[in-house]
Amino acid sequence: MNFSNSEQLYKEAQEVILGGVNSPSRAYKGVGGGTPVFMEKASGAYFWDADGNKYIDYLAAYGPIITGHAHPHVTKAIQNAAADGVLYGTPTVYENKFAGMLQNAIPSLEKVRFVNSGTEAVMTTIRVTRAYTGRNKIIKFAGCYHGHSDLVLVAAGSGPSTTGNPDSAGVTKNIAEEVITVPFNDLSGFKEALNHFGKEIAGVLVEPIVGNFGIVEPEPGFLEAVNDLSRANGSLVIYDEVITAFRFMYGGAQNLLEIEPDLTALGKIIGGGLPIGAYGGRQDIMEQISPLGPAYQAGTMAGNPASIRAGIACLEVLQTPGVYDKMDQLGRKLEEGILKAAEDHNIPAVVNRLRGALTVYFDVDKVSNFEDAESSSTDMFAAFFKKMLVRGINLAPSKFEALFLTSAHTEEDINKTIHIVEEVFAEGLEEY
Ligand code: PMP
Repeated sequence: MNFSNSEQLYKEAQEVILGGVNSPSRAYKGVGGGTPVFMEKASGAYFWDADGNKYIDYLAAYGPIITGHAHPHVTKAIQNAAADGVLYGTPTVYENKFAGMLQNAIPSLEKVRFVNSGTEAVMTTIRVTRAYTGRNKIIKFAGCYHGHSDLVLVAAGSGPSTTGNPDSAGVTKNIAEEVITVPFNDLSGFKEALNHFGKEIAGVLVEPIVGNFGIVEPEPGFLEAVNDLSRANGSLVIYDEVITAFRFMYGGAQNLLEIEPDLTALGKIIGGGLPIGAYGGRQDIMEQISPLGPAYQAGTMAGNPASIRAGIACLEVLQTPGVYDKMDQLGRKLEEGILKAAEDHNIPAVVNRLRGALTVYFDVDKVSNFEDAESSSTDMFAAFFKKMLVRGINLAPSKFEALFLTSAHTEEDINKTIHIVEEVFAEGLEEY
């Protein structure tokens, strides 16, 4: 494959855009750097880059593009929205319908508010827990990503009973002291943190099924205990479903797991590819928010008709019978193909899969928390990523991300991908 146009564009990008990219992972940092491919066009399960190379896409824009790129129904909704004006700054005739659709799909959303990103959604749920409880601290789980607001860019301290350290320059020590980070799937660590900080804990923030150190499910009873212990302590439970909502089924991970939080943060899929976030939950808690309550949240773009209409169209596509089963079947086929190729060529690969989302880890026995994921081989993943890319398969450039199936992927795409995985594993992942 020739990448000369991408190389030229990357050079030019670095002159005008800080680091040449608008989100750090796009610079391929997680796979040892290199020239990011500049995409020009996308349709269904495919991308075409600036050099005319075609790819099968498993990034799905880090999750949102579950219907495939430029799905006709979603595209039509966006075209209609554009023709009718994209931003009003008033209530619109579309937003009640969409809030109702979310509520029907995820019943714990007694009241909903729309914002513009997952970051905003999570940030606001934290504010609400503090307003409601009058407490300051939150507990989060190591390796779960919750956007780039100050409070959630805090990494683990040295043990469950310590507060965290800033994970980013510009996040103050004072803020880090308000966050306690414990390992996912570690109930005793969680109990210790809760006991130690007790009535200081306003909220407990968790991805109910993790999507940010690969796909990692909660061990049986873990979330139930987190819910029960938090509530007994007077702390609120926030599920960050920015990745998980509508990913595995029509509804949230909370529907799949049959467990409800007090508040939920949403984003990604619910915008049909346009910028969006939403949060919601128990009515009495949500009543803390302005204009009913004292906790402030606003947004010039919040609930804009373009994102809302794209979101409605996306959920309509996802209501098609069989969509999720198809993604599940293709996901299973891909998982089996990868594992078979790994066995045939002595590649130490582990696959975590839930329905249409899967993560391939190398050189690790199993992954059930962030530490496991971290200890998987970065070099082997980097080789895998780059060797797949130059053969026309676009994956997320980090060992912590998932491959996402979309409703546009076909059996033929999967067969082709498995064939390429076999070729790559046969060649080996020692270098690239
Ligand atoms: N929460 C989770 C679980 C996420 O995965 C992400 C983004 N990857 C966010 C929040 C932040 O969302 P956004 O990028 O839309 O701000």
